[in-house]
Amino acid sequence: MKKTALIVVDVQYDFIDGSLAVEGAERIIDPIVHLIEADCWSSIVLSQDFHPPGHISFASTYGKEPLQEVRVPHPITPATTVPQMLWPDHCVQGTHGAEIHERVMAATRAKAPGSNASVDTPAVNVVVIQKGDHANLDGYSAFSLNHYVGFTPLVRKMGSWGIERVVICGLATDYCCHATAVDARKFGFETIVVTDAMRGVNPDSTARALEGLSKWGCVLVKSPSDALELIAR
Ligand SMILES: [Zn+2]
Repeated sequence: MKKTALIVVDVQYDFIDGSLAVEGAERIIDPIVHLIEADCWSSIVLSQDFHPPGHISFASTYGKEPLQEVRVPHPITPATTVPQMLWPDHCVQGTHGAEIHERVMAATRAKAPGSNASVDTPAVNVVVIQKGDHANLDGYSAFSLNHYVGFTPLVRKMGSWGIERVVICGLATDYCCHATAVDARKFGFETIVVTDAMRGVNPDSTARALEGLSKWGCVLVKSPSDALELIAR
């Protein structure tokens, strides 16, 4: 079987029932835990949005209302500007809202090296990838900072683990899941997206995001069982 990583994007309390709650987010916890508990993963990646206070993506930083786009100086070439969506303060480092859901953490910890490793069920590589932790940069993807001004350690880890295929779920479909799945395709990973285990901020942009992912060559499946069946083939 191809070496496959499960990437669980930003399943954090602020996106579930906090300052930037995504509608229906509670309902994806069961499908995600079901995915994590499957025996087919070589690696499990949890991404975590992890902003310092006063972050560039917070509407409060500018005294503006959230959910509008502004232009901010490009972090490397400040003479030019780049678009930045403004959000309510969310996933601030050290707050409860930034924590990954406890059931997702518990299911993942149960897979960590040493917990249940044996000859029949070798240990799974487990990593938490923090992103958005730079004050002047935002980062939607688990792989990269916005505008590709930098990268997280994820692609190197994937390379060192020999990953060929990724399965993506989490929050939110139209932002961080979309950006992560597009990057996964750019890095050449076969990419499966599990729509029952994701929710989006906005229905229109969610529909557009999923359509875009198909064009990028992602395989969209509905349920965790569909994904697990596809992997087992
Ligand atoms: Zn964020």
